[in-house]
Amino acid sequence: MGPPGAGKGTQGELLARRLDIPRYSTGDILRQALREGTPLGLEAKKFMHAGELVPDEVILGIIGEALGHDESAQGFLLDGFPRTVAQAEGLSELLAEKGLDLDAIVNLSVDDEEIMKRLSTRGRKDDLVETIRRRLEIYRADTKPLLDWYAGHGVRILSVEGVGDIDEIQADILGSLAL
Ligand code: AMP
Repeated sequence: MGPPGAGKGTQGELLARRLDIPRYSTGDILRQALREGTPLGLEAKKFMHAGELVPDEVILGIIGEALGHDESAQGFLLDGFPRTVAQAEGLSELLAEKGLDLDAIVNLSVDDEEIMKRLSTRGRKDDLVETIRRRLEIYRADTKPLLDWYAGHGVRILSVEGVGDIDEIQADILGSLAL
């Protein structure tokens, strides 16, 4: 978890490779659907370009499908999901059906000023200044409270500073996971 631009994708890819487990990034799956013009892409487009969250049912459909793959049986990494309490509740149900549990949440922390700087030079379609502001607002209102929600449910939350050298941040993540 972490705000937009915290480096979830970069760090998530490194970590999934290192652990040899699949990484399910709802943002990547949605962007691919958008590029391919699938019904999912068409449905998600207006939300993504406005910096709004795609509806929970749509997102839970994506994750339900991903967790149905055989490759996920040995463990998996979720990137950019869950982002709302409703998504976290849906995830709990999906995991309970499979007899699985979350091992930990890695929370990447980066301050707003650094995020604005990073995102305004990244150049993705949803990285316009207004949209970035909106995504940060939504992160604070809907996603950040999930940390308390998970803490209340006894899930281990590992907070890692997301600023600095990419490999050093990855080493911090591995260290905090005690791997
Ligand atoms: P990301 O690459 O994770 O920042 O996601 C890019 C955009 O995809 C977000 O701004 C949302 O519009 C949408 N999105 C990705 N993951 C989710 C999610 N878990 N819930 C709702 N919308 C999402």
